[in-house]
Amino acid sequence: MALVVQKYGGTSVGNIEKIANVAKKVIRTKEEGNDVVVVLSAMSGETDRLLQLAQKAADEPDPRECDSLVSTGEQITVALLAIILKAMGHRAKSFLGFQVPVNTDNAFKKARILEVGTEAIRKELQQGGIAVVAGFQGVDEENNITTLGRGGSDTSAVALAAALQADVCDIYTDVDGVYTTDPNICGNARRLDRITYDEMLEMARAGAKVLQPRSVELAKKYNVPVCVRSSFTDEGGTLVTREDKDMEKEVVAGVTYDRDQAKITVVHVPDRPGVAARLITPLSEHNIVVDMIIQNASILGHTDLTFTVSRKDIREATRIVSEVAKEVGAEKVEIDDNVAKVSIIGVGMISHSGVAAKMFETLAHEGINIMMISTSEIKISCVVEAKYTELAVTVLHDAFCLGEES
Ligand code: ADP
Ligand code: ASP
Ligand code: MG
Repeated sequence: MALVVQKYGGTSVGNIEKIANVAKKVIRTKEEGNDVVVVLSAMSGETDRLLQLAQKAADEPDPRECDSLVSTGEQITVALLAIILKAMGHRAKSFLGFQVPVNTDNAFKKARILEVGTEAIRKELQQGGIAVVAGFQGVDEENNITTLGRGGSDTSAVALAAALQADVCDIYTDVDGVYTTDPNICGNARRLDRITYDEMLEMARAGAKVLQPRSVELAKKYNVPVCVRSSFTDEGGTLVTREDKDMEKEVVAGVTYDRDQAKITVVHVPDRPGVAARLITPLSEHNIVVDMIIQNASILGHTDLTFTVSRKDIREATRIVSEVAKEVGAEKVEIDDNVAKVSIIGVGMISHSGVAAKMFETLAHEGINIMMISTSEIKISCVVEAKYTELAVTVLHDAFCLGEES
């Protein structure tokens, strides 16, 4: 008998028929003799719909109220699944974030989980029930509802699996595993049987939205085995796990893209110690994540500083940076949100040379201009014009021979 956490994403619970299909899978797992904790997302499109409503209500809707609003999407799906499970003759109970509780900090819209209570869920399991938990939401110290950032139900599931010391955390979605690149944009992407936490983390951070990055961080930290599976077939699956000796060290394991990028350039900044800190620190104080940063060589005591942020943060980031730019005597602030980031990831890169050169040559061959470059031990990312995203992904996928052999 095992304790299994199963998370179903938006497309898997998109309507009543699909929720009934989830109920069947949950019951099957339970009848195999396991304890089952289910974590659900909102119906696909629902979180976007709610966010658009907030945007219609006000130009800059209050973040606390936005979280109260968007968390309702998951409240609907968990209640519906519990209703269906009970109607099918099974004991089940839905839990909202505060009922678990999933305690978070108070950073609305991107809260971080601090602790997950296990008592209420364990009690339900002990009584033979199925616990159905709303993903994406938590509660802060002052009892405010918080949400964990887009895609946050993955993180809810892994956090619960860690807290309950579950045997496995299955992430059910609309693809049957993690692929060498997004199978929805590259026809010959290949499914990986296994991927290391580190590679998956870099892929997720670089935009492969199949898992939220924070969920992979938690899985790695608490050693939770995560399996990505399809809600619609029993075939396939990818195990996200620790590196073991038998695992093939691919030079490049995958290609990712991230359209959620905007570039801010502070032009002609005085090149003095402390200026970069003055520009970037207020952004982190506002919980705005700065991704890539480049600073040009200094010419006559001045330089340009360019960095990227998520598109949803661009208004706030521009406001903050423009104020500081004026104070430090920069000439102007330029914004470009017509960009995307493409990345190649692989643990084998550490020991292979020429990988970056091959990436740059491949993009150059297609006439794709590289605006920014960043590297880590196992990742190389380039910012390119947004219209080249799919082309860049496809040619890189081919160049590193990642596709299915035909
Ligand atoms: P869910 O609603 O189930 O959470 P998501 O839309 O968040 O699903 O994530 C699944 C999607 O991730 C897939 O439909 C696919 O388009 C995208 N994706 C991007 N990169 C990859 C990859 N390397 N492997 C698998 N899926 C990927
Ligand atoms: N419903 C939330 C979203 O759309 C959380 C999730 O699906 O993981 O981002
Ligand atoms: Mg998701």
